[in-house]
Amino acid sequence: TAPLSTVTLGDEFARTLPEMALPWQADVAAAPELLVLNEALAAEFGLDPGWLRGPEGVRLLVGNLVPEGAAPVAQAYAGHQFGGYSPRLGDGRALLLGELVHADGLPRDLHLKGSGRTPFSRGGDGLAAVGPMLREYVVSEAMHALGIPTTRSLAVVATGTPVHREGPLPGAVLARVASSHLRVGSFQYAAATGDVDLLRRLADHAIARHHPDAGAAERRHLALFEAVVADQAALVARWMLVGFVHGVMNTDNMTISGETIDYGPCAFMEAFDPATVYSSIDHQGRYAYGNQPAMAEWNLARLAEAMLPLFADDQERAVELAVQALGEFRRQYNDAWTAGMRAKLGLPDSLDPAETAPLVDDLLVLLRDNHVDHTSFHRRLAAAARGDAEPARGLVLDLAGIDGWLDRWRALEPDAEAMDRVNPVYVPRNHLVEEALAAATGGDLEPFRRLLDAVGAPFDERPGLDRYAEPAPRDFGSTYQTFCGT
Ligand code: AMP
Ligand code: MG
Ligand code: MG
Repeated sequence: TAPLSTVTLGDEFARTLPEMALPWQADVAAAPELLVLNEALAAEFGLDPGWLRGPEGVRLLVGNLVPEGAAPVAQAYAGHQFGGYSPRLGDGRALLLGELVHADGLPRDLHLKGSGRTPFSRGGDGLAAVGPMLREYVVSEAMHALGIPTTRSLAVVATGTPVHREGPLPGAVLARVASSHLRVGSFQYAAATGDVDLLRRLADHAIARHHPDAGAAERRHLALFEAVVADQAALVARWMLVGFVHGVMNTDNMTISGETIDYGPCAFMEAFDPATVYSSIDHQGRYAYGNQPAMAEWNLARLAEAMLPLFADDQERAVELAVQALGEFRRQYNDAWTAGMRAKLGLPDSLDPAETAPLVDDLLVLLRDNHVDHTSFHRRLAAAARGDAEPARGLVLDLAGIDGWLDRWRALEPDAEAMDRVNPVYVPRNHLVEEALAAATGGDLEPFRRLLDAVGAPFDERPGLDRYAEPAPRDFGSTYQTFCGT
């Protein structure tokens, strides 16, 4: 038991915010089997991968072995789902096991998904299937490798118990690591209780954990809000630049830390189109690719509403301050996105944005009108900077249009090396993810491991991985749909 005694899980959230933490236990896994372990991530916490792979370690990873001093809880939160408010969502199939200390000295949450029913389960079974948990694993690790803030995936363990969806599926638990699981919906929950002391404790906990600098500000809770606005503006710009469609940007799925969370119905866009929607339940296109910045801003307005009592004693003044702070989102988002687009095109920061804006706008119209694969085009454009336009040009039907655009762009002397550092070759393309998950559900993890390997080093083009750089074959269809809560 030596290695277990070295696993220390804090209970800071549970102690600081007991009103939002229901002590709870994970279901006992009938026949736990480790499917994938993130050894590099484990090492960042001083966890021994060999021990984690053994029977004790696997029991820890499904919540059945609770280290001394740990106090697993289901967290309470509220949220706007597709615009409609639910006062009580919470961890319906998840548990916060506790806080681990990272090598950087800062705490991270160790969290389980698919660990059984809780008092927040409502009609749900509290469970998760192998496919969706491996999906979160590979997409979150791909996002991390792309340099995009995200929750991390430590392990997926098959439970040995079937989960009933359309038919029986193998059940699984995902062990997830995050800077925290504080959400916009956590603040909505605290605000709705009417207990301003709880709201203040939550905000102070968030400051200590994520934005200690805000603690020194004259209005520290306003400074916290401003920091969340800035982090989310930067985050959503990063999503847009890689063509990531989150799919379910409800306020309970938006973090205070600025990390991407909840990889349910997400997908990477192939043919560039702002109207792209993958989620089977997003009938109005509320969370379409091109709507994501506006939806983030909408969610931040809900956060501001929840935090109003903390901004100023005079509520009119509080509203004024909130509106001012929220007004920064658009500018920050536009700055981040513009800088990111310039980098994707290999253009120096020193260029006047007024000069590059029409170039960027015209490119987006060309890409949309010609259904051009977003990831391939940007990666292949570097070859055009090196003198061979054909790889990128060949993706565009309107040859006169792309030739005219390429001439204008080349005149600005793009840097091909710099482009290769920001334009990925490999992203978790939908057909590859589906192929890997189907095989894994049938017991073959090889395709999953190969995909994980490809997207784990997304900028590093390697021989033999061509099919991971290609858009979906025609027979995959253009009506790909993703599903939540499976
Ligand atoms: P999501 O759409 O995944 O962000 O989940 C929204 C809410 O539904 C959260 O409160 C989840 O905990 C809950 N939920 C999702 N799936 C299940 C399930 N299978 N059983 C119980 N609760 C669930
Ligand atoms: Mg969620
Ligand atoms: Mg989900």
